[in-house]
Amino acid sequence: MLAVVVCAWTRLSSARTGVALVYHQVGGKGGDARLEILAAVSGDSFRRQLRHLRRYYHVVPASELLDAVRSRRRGQRFPVAITFDDDLAGHAHDALPELQREGLTATFFLGGISLAGPHRFWWEDLQRAVDDRLIEPDAIPHVAEADVRAALERSPKAIFRVAAAIERLDRPQRADAADALRSAAGPPSADEGLRAANVQALIAGGAEVGFHTLRHDLLPALSDNELADALREGSDELAAVTGTRLEVISYPHGRADQRVADAARAAGFTYGFVTGRETVTADTNPLLIPRIPPALSPGRTALRLARAVASSGSP
Ligand SMILES: [Zn+2]
Repeated sequence: MLAVVVCAWTRLSSARTGVALVYHQVGGKGGDARLEILAAVSGDSFRRQLRHLRRYYHVVPASELLDAVRSRRRGQRFPVAITFDDDLAGHAHDALPELQREGLTATFFLGGISLAGPHRFWWEDLQRAVDDRLIEPDAIPHVAEADVRAALERSPKAIFRVAAAIERLDRPQRADAADALRSAAGPPSADEGLRAANVQALIAGGAEVGFHTLRHDLLPALSDNELADALREGSDELAAVTGTRLEVISYPHGRADQRVADAARAAGFTYGFVTGRETVTADTNPLLIPRIPPALSPGRTALRLARAVASSGSP
């Protein structure tokens, strides 16, 4: 209720503001934000979040958000882009049907790693290995044993420390850690990831597809040459499936800096998305557009959105 009041009140403002949201997994019973690296938003919560967005905001594809922000007039709804990261089977099976039911569009940022066969990301292997106690505390190379032990003991947020440690490793070391996690968690099942047909179903269902890089490296940590490669590798293959040029990118782990933004522009991207807590304004750098993670509950997500637009200007 409060969120609705705040939203209605701030709509009187002429602020040229909008919000981008970044989802990962949605559907089912939902996850636990203390114990899961990317806890799923439950199917019920996602449905209610979409309903709220449809009623009170102007939902646009990520590629149109900045233009919508710049052309917003007093009294108009604030523009919002609904985005998803990673090549997750749930995008096609859970997210798309709900979006279609509400008549909303969204942008899916994909790497294309599972176009031809199943794939599971290292952090998904980590989650499984910890949840099902498939790994010993000392079994992940280059990661502190104490952190892995704490995660196995279900200490709140401990698994985030393990994931952050792996994220910071350089490529060869991260490959070591990923190998250990894969051995523990086992190979992906046949339905994991997004096949070419699933990606085409997203497009046919009215969604937009952007790039998220094939190997999901932390881009600011790469050398100039590695960065240029990461922004190109796999993009032609994904574009061949979507049948469109990939105009938008979201940076892996939501992280980019000015050098990454410049490289993305040089690689042909018009808009780039990070993860942050800020709103999008007319002055936002098109290659460094922040996206706010939704809360797991619909009420808290509504409030987070209302606060964001309210912070940008009052009537
Ligand atoms: Zn990602």
